[in-house]
Amino acid sequence: MPSMRLTKQKLLFKQFLENNKDRDMTVSEMSELLEDSGIKLGIATIYRAVNRLEAEGTLIRIVNGSTSKAAYRYNGADSMVRTIHRVFCTSCGKTAELSFKFTEKLDMSVSDTTGFSISDHQMMFYGHCPDCRKN
Ligand SMILES: [Zn+2]
Repeated sequence: MPSMRLTKQKLLFKQFLENNKDRDMTVSEMSELLEDSGIKLGIATIYRAVNRLEAEGTLIRIVNGSTSKAAYRYNGADSMVRTIHRVFCTSCGKTAELSFKFTEKLDMSVSDTTGFSISDHQMMFYGHCPDCRKN
């Protein structure tokens, strides 16, 4: 039954994302990691799943300034939109979560200047982490 197979793939993929929830992955990295863990999913299947999960808010697209490839981060099974502000090391890929008090003010000023009501935002800073700065 094809639908059974699809459901199983979907579950395996979500489980895989949960197991790797602390890392940002491009689609090709997902494909390699899935293969390493013995899960065979075609790249087209992964792309479809990623697009669907991104639309649901389960995956968040992280646009990396240093490459043209988008990486994705798992946002939890509850699909809650989560505000992101992080700093990204362009040498080793390490990320750190930031918590800024000014973001609420920022949302308000964006709302004031554009007339949009702001429900979420993403912010990414790029640089070198303390470990990479030592080298
Ligand atoms: Zn680093």
